[in-house]
Amino acid sequence: MGSEAALLLFSGGQDSATCLAWALQRFGRVETVGFSYGQRHHVELQARQRVRTALSEAFPDWAPRLGQDRVLNLDLLGDLGGNSLTSTAAISERPDGLPDTFVPGRNLLFFTAAAALAAQRGCRHLVAGVCETDYSGYPDCRDDTIKAMQVALNLGMNERFVIHTPLMWRDKAETWQLAHALGGDALIDLMLEESHSCYLGERQQRHPWGYGCGTCPACELRAAGWQRWRDELA
Ligand code: ZN
Repeated sequence: MGSEAALLLFSGGQDSATCLAWALQRFGRVETVGFSYGQRHHVELQARQRVRTALSEAFPDWAPRLGQDRVLNLDLLGDLGGNSLTSTAAISERPDGLPDTFVPGRNLLFFTAAAALAAQRGCRHLVAGVCETDYSGYPDCRDDTIKAMQVALNLGMNERFVIHTPLMWRDKAETWQLAHALGGDALIDLMLEESHSCYLGERQQRHPWGYGCGTCPACELRAAGWQRWRDELA
């Protein structure tokens, strides 16, 4: 796969930043795509640029493989409304037990838009940081959903995409472990300083596990994973 090109769905969070390192180690060219959809905060989109720049500086072997970045506008997710990531409502639970941070259709749209871009850019591989192990139970992060998506995209676009999900069966502690295996302490430091996961966009408080409010579901997962990695796996 060393000479082939990959397109990474890149949010600037810990998971997709880890996947960026994973892809840079494997593919000859790695492009990134992000999505703007009326997020409450633009902290995530800023984190994307910081992570890309910091990775290029800290890992000269990877730098020449890092290709172009695009941010595609998917404002229709904001137009649809009704969830806490694109409106000002507080995070709570839906009647079916899913957190209302779940945005119906979001990942499906992301993959469709990413695949259309990948076809244009000659990228056969799609990489995404989705995970079904401890990721709030989002149905569009399930392995079955992704496999079905791969079939639908290949049929619908007459392509032979391969979707890679290196974090699918890892919990957050194992994601820290993977980052360390890929880039050692330098990559861990980069994740702590530059990647962003907090749903509330908090960048003022620095915890041992990075920046965030410390209490939203994304911060709680990240903090617990960090603690377990330090205690058991590091
Ligand atoms: Zn938070």
